Amino acid sequence: MTAILRTPVRQLPITVPPVRRETTDSFLRRLAIVNHLEPDDVADAVAVTRRKSVAGVKRTYSAAKIARVTGHSVESLAKALPELARPNQRFPLNHVLRACPRCCRRHRGGTVRIHPEPHQHVCLRHNLWLGSLGPESSGWIQEEGPVDISALPVIRAAQRRHHRLIRHHGQAAATTAVLTAVHAWQRGEDRLGRRQWERIDILRPGTERVSSNDPITHAVCYPDIITIASVLASPFWQNTATDPRTETTAVAEILRRIHEREMPDPYDNTGATIWPVIRDWARGLQRDRRHRDPDRYWDEVLAKLL
Ligand SMILES: [Zn+2]
Repeated sequence: MTAILRTPVRQLPITVPPVRRETTDSFLRRLAIVNHLEPDDVADAVAVTRRKSVAGVKRTYSAAKIARVTGHSVESLAKALPELARPNQRFPLNHVLRACPRCCRRHRGGTVRIHPEPHQHVCLRHNLWLGSLGPESSGWIQEEGPVDISALPVIRAAQRRHHRLIRHHGQAAATTAVLTAVHAWQRGEDRLGRRQWERIDILRPGTERVSSNDPITHAVCYPDIITIASVLASPFWQNTATDPRTETTAVAEILRRIHEREMPDPYDNTGATIWPVIRDWARGLQRDRRHRDPDRYWDEVLAKLL
């Protein structure tokens, strides 16, 4: 790692406002472009440290210097740029997405890249899948988004349901439910069934193969993942799943919601593939309850048995 020399910096003639949750690199690159400067020169001028890595040059930045070259206050920069607001947090590069180009059309300097919220996958205003690989993916995006999903309202509706899950159950409970749903969904060797291929055919007609690092693969599975999560996050279904006499009905409910208004698919084995994860999730809940309040837990068990 190389420490950058303390070179004096002055305000650039043209400034640009940062976009909410923009990466600092993206903001500085746009700032350089509108001022007809080399992006690396501007980035080096406001950097604190600089090191080379396989992914390119990585820098840490001085919020005070960025404030000086842009004329924005440190506070307003930190409000928009997560890396300046939380310098000790790690922001995974494989989660960086291109911001909705239609929302950003008035922002000068080229493509805007953001650190999206963990639950942010769709621009609801413009019907675009922003290009993520789904909730909590650790993969690297193969093709930069966005994907136009206006022909498939079910994906936009899933994003709204995801927001509702967070509002009703809180961020932590909703995240656990979505992660368990992703885990359940990924158990199948090929989670692209008939319905998902029908969706791919609408979004990208004629496609015969898709990679798991292609955002479209995740856009078409997202509605089913949120359907599973909506059952897992519900206290009613959690109680049902932790009762040994009714635990299988939670899976039946998930399948009913997934296949609503559809002809049954004889080759669909979703139930068999998601069942072990749902069972483990229900048993985990049982263990948690037993440890948290053993008296109440055993009273409930006895009440169910008598
Ligand atoms: Zn938009």
